[in-house]
Amino acid sequence: MKALVFTAPGQVELLDVPEPDPAPGEVLVQVRAAGICGSELHGARRPGFRKPPLIMGHEFAGISAGGEAVVVNPILSCGHCAECGRGLRHVCRNREIIGVHRAGGFAERVAVPASALRPLPPGLPWETAALIEPAANAVHAWNQALGALGTGGAQGARVAVIGCGAIGLLCAATALSGGAGRVEVADLSPARLAAARRLGAEVAGPGLSGQHDVVIDAVGSAATRAASVTHQCPGGVAVWLGLAEEEAGFDANALIRSEKRVLGSFAYRDEEFAHAMAQIQDWDLTWAAGYPLAAAAEVFTGLMNGGLHPLKALLRP
Ligand SMILES: [Zn+2]
Ligand SMILES: [Zn+2]
Repeated sequence: MKALVFTAPGQVELLDVPEPDPAPGEVLVQVRAAGICGSELHGARRPGFRKPPLIMGHEFAGISAGGEAVVVNPILSCGHCAECGRGLRHVCRNREIIGVHRAGGFAERVAVPASALRPLPPGLPWETAALIEPAANAVHAWNQALGALGTGGAQGARVAVIGCGAIGLLCAATALSGGAGRVEVADLSPARLAAARRLGAEVAGPGLSGQHDVVIDAVGSAATRAASVTHQCPGGVAVWLGLAEEEAGFDANALIRSEKRVLGSFAYRDEEFAHAMAQIQDWDLTWAAGYPLAAAAEVFTGLMNGGLHPLKALLRP
C-alpha cells in the first residue's frame, strides 16, 4: 500500500510499504481523511518523540474492517498507572500516541487497537471527522479554563486566543459555543484572522489588546506565553497548549501580584473527544482543504518549509 513515510529529519516520502498486519485486539482501518498537524511539521524538522522511519498521522477517520465509519482516538494508555487510576488517561505515564509512537493515518490502511475506535454519526463528512481530534484538544483547553474560573465565572467571560491555526480556531469556536461572552483573536496572517471572524470571533490583529478573563495560547513561543500573562486580567487564567518553544519568557511576579494563573492543556479525556464529535458539526470548517495521498509528500514538505499555506491540510487516501 501507499504511505507517507517520515524517512529522515526534514524529509517525508510517499512509499510502497507492506500492508499492516493487525495484532490480536487490533483492527484494520481504511483511512479516508487524515489531518496534518503542526506538531508533525515541527517533529519532522527536529525529531523528538517521532523517530524515522515512521508513518505519522494522529488525526484520522475511516472505515473499520467491520464496515463501520469511525474516527480514531489516538491516545493509548496503560490502564494501570496512578494517572489512569485517577481517570486521567490522557496523561498516563506510559502513554503512546498512534502516529507518534506507532504507525498512524498517513496511509491507505492502518492497524489500531479496537479500543481506539469511535463510531461516527451517520453522514458526517470525512474532512469534518478528521478534525474531531484537534477539536477535542480545544474542548479540553476550554474545560481547563472552566475548571479555573468555575462554570459560573466562565459564562460571559472575555476570552482571547493567540494563534489562529486549526487549534486556535477550534479553541475560539469551542469558547463561543461554551458560553464565552466574546472571543478576541490574534494572528499574523490575515487569512487566518478571516477564518476566525467567520467562526464569530473578534479580530484584534497581530497582537491582543486589553485584558481578558481567559487567554488561550495556541502558539507556545516565549513571546506568546508572555502575552498570555500580560493580557490576562487579575484572577484570570491562561491556558497553554501551543508547543512551539521550550522557553516560558513570562513575568512570573505578575502571577503573584495579580493572582494570575497558567494552566497546561494536553490532549483530552474520552468524554471531551465525544463532546468534540457532537459539536463540530455546527462550525464553519471551510478553512480545511483536502489533498489526494499522491500529493502528500509535496503538501507536507510545502507546509514544513512554509511555502504552502492552506490553513489546515487533510490527506484523503
Ligand atoms: Zn494534532
Ligand atoms: Zn497509565
